[in-house]
Amino acid sequence: EVRVRFAPSPTGALHIGGVRTALYNYLYARKTNGKFLLRIEDTDQTRFVPGAEEYIKEALEWLGISPDESPWNPGEVGPYRQSERKPMYMQYALDLVEKGHAYYAFDTAEELEAMRQRLTAARVVSPQYNSITRTQMKNSLTLPEDEVKARLESGEPYVIRIKIPRKEEVRLNDLIRGWVMVHSSTLDDKVLMKSDGMPTYHLANIVDDHLMGITHVIRGEEWLPSAPLHVLLYRYFGWEDTMPQFAHLPLLLKPDGNGKLSKRDADKHGFPVFPMDWVDPNSGEKAMGFREQGYMPDSFLNFLAFLGWNPGDHREIFSLEELVEAFSIERIGKSGTKFDINKAKWYNEQYLRAKSDEELGAYLMADLEKEGISVSSEKAAQIAHIMKERATFSSDLWKEGQFMFVAPQTFDEAVVSKRWNNDAFTVLNTYKEKLSGFDGELTPETAKSILESAAEENGIKLGKVMQAVRLAVTGVGAGPDLMAVFSIIGKDELVSRIDFALK
Ligand code: GLU
Repeated sequence: EVRVRFAPSPTGALHIGGVRTALYNYLYARKTNGKFLLRIEDTDQTRFVPGAEEYIKEALEWLGISPDESPWNPGEVGPYRQSERKPMYMQYALDLVEKGHAYYAFDTAEELEAMRQRLTAARVVSPQYNSITRTQMKNSLTLPEDEVKARLESGEPYVIRIKIPRKEEVRLNDLIRGWVMVHSSTLDDKVLMKSDGMPTYHLANIVDDHLMGITHVIRGEEWLPSAPLHVLLYRYFGWEDTMPQFAHLPLLLKPDGNGKLSKRDADKHGFPVFPMDWVDPNSGEKAMGFREQGYMPDSFLNFLAFLGWNPGDHREIFSLEELVEAFSIERIGKSGTKFDINKAKWYNEQYLRAKSDEELGAYLMADLEKEGISVSSEKAAQIAHIMKERATFSSDLWKEGQFMFVAPQTFDEAVVSKRWNNDAFTVLNTYKEKLSGFDGELTPETAKSILESAAEENGIKLGKVMQAVRLAVTGVGAGPDLMAVFSIIGKDELVSRIDFALK
């Protein structure tokens, strides 16, 4: 059975890349009838941010991709928070020490810093604690056995480091990138156990993936450099047979394709990077959310799915079920994907237009209620019908359609100077009089035929004054189907608006 996991660290709001990772894991689990787990990786207490876990939960719920097993919905391999698994890790680190693949190190922060300076002075590009330098440091490989014992017994602080072999080719077959080969001389002896008794990410991640029966690790490309170390850990633990398969997802790039997408891009380009509003409890900083911007979960999911994956044909609109059906790891690209907010908007527009007038009318009514305006649901649906082609977010129905409810007090000067002339004045005057004497129902058709006869009677071509008519009634020179607008606002309002414009 396929078991995949999303393993966020609760260090703040989810980044867009994190949400994509969660989605791909979810899709793969559904596709294979497997399980999608969520594990909170909170071993780094210094970076822990209160509220972050609830945020992750809510974000996934909003998108409809909740995990099958998680801290709030545990399965059989819990706990699902690493901080609650703390007592389990030491035995695994000690097991590696016993097998000779890890060792105790007693170096103080000052000693480590002195080593870095020594190496930097010797022009070593990236100073590392490795097979060469460890021979000069204070650890259980260099100190006599009884001294190590004495130090441990006296309670001296120590860490446990992995012993990376000096010359070895480490290989892994990534499902997206193919064979990745790294020489062990480029790796360093990463800390597995910290002096506070907490495991590092590397140790906890591998132990947990193993104990939780994870079969596929689908995660961001930024973790690819750690993968060779993880392969070595699986080998040293003797878990190679059940080592998960790796799939490292392509980077998300800035909109112009130059470099990695960062949080700062959000501020600079004025688009939100997080799925939901988030106020960082430490800094008080607020991040704008996609949800609050008016993106709908189904359109946002569809957009996210295409950030690195495509179905191999021209189709772009996929429901979650259709994504599950079409998804495969083979169709995830290797190269980075540009993050284009206009595409996200495009998706939202498509999804908005696909909704029924009644559903959109309900959104509009909710917005109107906040403004203290009440309309019937029929009327709201009518308005939604003519406005939806012009809306990106449901809130645009109100924003762009305000003129339906509020008569214009000012008129677009540019249109006034170009279109407001005697002909317009004459036609509007006649139109107003005809409307006042009209008793029937003002439908788009009757509104139009009356307007046509008003123009004809005066020997004026309607096309020439049409924009002025729109201006008089809506205050601007462009907008949705005008006759539909007339019918919706009704005869009395129409007459009073024309009256006002003519004064
Ligand atoms: N805790 C890591 C993160 O925050 C998980 C990386 C992984 O999936 O292995 O992204």
